[in-house]
Amino acid sequence: MKTPDIAIIGAGPVGMALALALHGGPHTVTLIDARGRGASRKDPRVLALAHGTRLTLERLGVWGHLPTTPIRHIHISQQDGFGRTQLNESDYALDGLGHVVRAGDLAAALDDAITAASIPVIDHSEADVDPELHGRVQLRRTDATDTLDCQLVVCAEGGMRADDPAIRVRDYGQHAVICMATPAVAHGNTAYERFTPNGPVALLPCGTDFAVVHTAAPEQAEAWLALDDTAYLAELQQAFGHRVKLIGVSPRERFPLQLRVRHTPVANRQVWLGNAAQTLHPVAGQGLNLALRDVWALARRLNAATDPGDAQVLSAYLRDRRLDRASTVGFTDTLVRLFSNDLPPLRGLRGLGLLALDLAPPLRHFVAKRMMFGARAWP
Ligand SMILES: Cc1cc2nc3c(=O)[nH]c(=O)nc-3n(C[C@H](O)[C@H](O)[C@H](O)COP(=O)(O)OP(=O)(O)OC[C@H]3O[C@@H](n4cnc5c(N)ncnc54)[C@H](O)[C@@H]3O)c2cc1C
Repeated sequence: MKTPDIAIIGAGPVGMALALALHGGPHTVTLIDARGRGASRKDPRVLALAHGTRLTLERLGVWGHLPTTPIRHIHISQQDGFGRTQLNESDYALDGLGHVVRAGDLAAALDDAITAASIPVIDHSEADVDPELHGRVQLRRTDATDTLDCQLVVCAEGGMRADDPAIRVRDYGQHAVICMATPAVAHGNTAYERFTPNGPVALLPCGTDFAVVHTAAPEQAEAWLALDDTAYLAELQQAFGHRVKLIGVSPRERFPLQLRVRHTPVANRQVWLGNAAQTLHPVAGQGLNLALRDVWALARRLNAATDPGDAQVLSAYLRDRRLDRASTVGFTDTLVRLFSNDLPPLRGLRGLGLLALDLAPPLRHFVAKRMMFGARAWP
């Protein structure tokens, strides 16, 4: 097995995007995944991608192959409370405030581009980083083991151990139930975010349907999974109110939600990216968007370096990303904690906040641009 300069552990969307961003640069790259090739193509999630992410995927040559649904309006409200706000694409001279894609379609487009670029992928191999020998990766397959000594190891394996002392964990006590829902009338490319005492519920336009992300306490989420479609549809409609009439839902899956943040996502000849660096609540649809901004910044630093594992190169990357990373994590975490409760004083404050956003265009534009481009978009 030929040792690459850079080993990327995890061929999920983040690992694949980094491999493509490094392609054509000075360093050789290999992707390693514990699952079979292309397993991410079966990811059932639906993702809202910011305009900035679209630009990154265009540069990686995968945007044109993706079935996408543009979001032209975003409507934000709270259950049992006043105040609502609306964002419109016409205020920003853009084709879409964001775009909705199926995570499986995105994985397929990235995987096809990896094949076209002849980037090596080692699948069915579980990788471990050697804590003593910097840059060393141990590979375990059912029939063999192997060792790679690389200049840099990128950990994009999608998870973090909660008992790792380098990780900050906040358990929101929520699970996300996801499914597709059919609207009674055309959705008009409007995305809805509604805050309920159980947690946020989002409807994202996806083709002619809505993709649903419905959060609640784990026991409640379990109960929704056990309901038949008609009974669950009634629960969803009740949470959403009658602004949107829904007439059908698909089978449901659920995901536990926690905030997990690795305080310093670089070490000796090692970088953590994507969910392995920070796992966010999906309330503001920021997880993959933030990760792809990290990917682009890291690739720029690595492509300009002679030694991609050099400590100064990794420190420069950390500095580049500090503000956006901290503010995106903080924004998402604050939103969940402020909006996922039923305390009457907070309900009033939330209503005032939504009203203020609606009545004050500069404030609204500030939030909208922040969500489209990350912290660098701040004036
Ligand atoms: C319900 C829900 C909705 C979401 N909605 C949005 C949204 O609207 N917008 C948005 O931007 N983000 C959203 N996200 C977040 C987004 O899904 C994640 O940011 C993204 O999936 C992270 O990708 P990743 O490549 O880091 O990890 P993964 O997709 O988990 O990929 C990790 C890969 O690493 C492999 N692996 C693991 N361990 C090893 C090992 N030891 N050795 C080798 N390989 C290994 C796995 O097999 C896997 O292929 C949402 C998340 C959830 C839960």
